[in-house]
Amino acid sequence: MQSGSEIIVIGGGVIGLATAIELRLLGAEVTVLCQDFQAAAGHAAAGMLAPQAEKIPTGSMLDLCLASRDLYPEWVNKIESISGVDTGYWACGILAPHYDDCERNEDWLDRQTIHQHQAALSDSIVGGYWYPADGQVDNRALIRSLSIASQTLGVKFLDGVEVTAIDRDRGRVTQLETNRGNMSAQHYILATGAWSQQLLPIPIVPRKGQLLSVLVPTAQRANLPLQQVLFGEETYIVPRRDGKIIIGATSEDVGFAPHNTLKGIEQLITNAIRLFPQLQDFPLHETWWGFRPATPDELPILGPSAADNLTLATGHYRNGILLTPITAKLIADLVWHQQGDNLLSSFSWQRFEPS
Ligand SMILES: Cc1cc2nc3c(=O)[nH]c(=O)nc-3n(C[C@H](O)[C@H](O)[C@H](O)COP(=O)(O)OP(=O)(O)OC[C@H]3O[C@@H](n4cnc5c(N)ncnc54)[C@H](O)[C@@H]3O)c2cc1C
Repeated sequence: MQSGSEIIVIGGGVIGLATAIELRLLGAEVTVLCQDFQAAAGHAAAGMLAPQAEKIPTGSMLDLCLASRDLYPEWVNKIESISGVDTGYWACGILAPHYDDCERNEDWLDRQTIHQHQAALSDSIVGGYWYPADGQVDNRALIRSLSIASQTLGVKFLDGVEVTAIDRDRGRVTQLETNRGNMSAQHYILATGAWSQQLLPIPIVPRKGQLLSVLVPTAQRANLPLQQVLFGEETYIVPRRDGKIIIGATSEDVGFAPHNTLKGIEQLITNAIRLFPQLQDFPLHETWWGFRPATPDELPILGPSAADNLTLATGHYRNGILLTPITAKLIADLVWHQQGDNLLSSFSWQRFEPS
């Protein structure tokens, strides 16, 4: 494409914003249409960058996740220097404690070692694994930083604009119908997360997650009791540098049912106190929920679509924060330079087509 080409990104979550920024830096005129910025899963997530703690099996998904994790330090520097807003990126490492015997390899930390590594874990923890290269980003700070960076660069961001239909003719998108009238561009990118199936017949469903946060008491702020993520068998606990601790998350097939439930919050509290008992005395700060965009094989849908001028960047399920830098880079290269990277080949929408 040529400098000044017009691109519309549908969806203004982390994926849509980061992709818009990359395309703008390449010279595109980019507009982002977003039905509801606050509803984006990017606000709701825990922000773990955890390809190893998540035990993603060897293969194309792990390759994609590791490539994205590698991009993180340089990428957040770039976004922060454009926006002037810190993203809270923290290469803090992730500890995965276990209650029971599980499959062990040579990296297994025994009981004594893991309790030395992290004080005040549950007495029932028998060992675990340490993933020093995993980490976290403060996803709310990240999405704020992305939003400001995109606007600083001149990306047009229209919140409250819902795309209601994608009109096509002879294999090309001709226009978008929206609640503010019809809009058109040379190329379109679909980054609508859990809501994607409302626009295209691709198999993405919402998987609800509830979370809560507590605050480290003021007296302990100078020396935070947790300085690494705990990725337990039943829960994860993500300490932020500012003294907040995020506890997650449920995984529920309830469509777009809103709100926290007592059952969901009870589950989070019980599992978190079991893993790290001193949390029971920490003040509750906030509860919230969000919708992960889940595909049948739990892998994202990336790359070309059935229409020549529509590219897909959706279905990131539980690793969308981790996968943001690599998705933005690969999708921008594909759209702008027509360069398809090998990393994209396993994530085509066509894998769901009946053969
Ligand atoms: C509870 C929870 C915990 C998570 N924890 C982690 C984690 O620790 N690490 C990690 O890597 N990932 C995590 N994730 C996953 C991650 O948040 C998502 O994969 C990621 O945010 C998806 O980004 P997105 O931009 O594709 O979608 P979203 O962030 O959901 O944004 C989509 C946007 O598109 C807009 N939109 C939808 N339809 C339309 C339309 N028709 N017209 C215009 N706009 C539209 C929506 O309003 C929304 O703003 C978590 C998610 C949840 C819910």
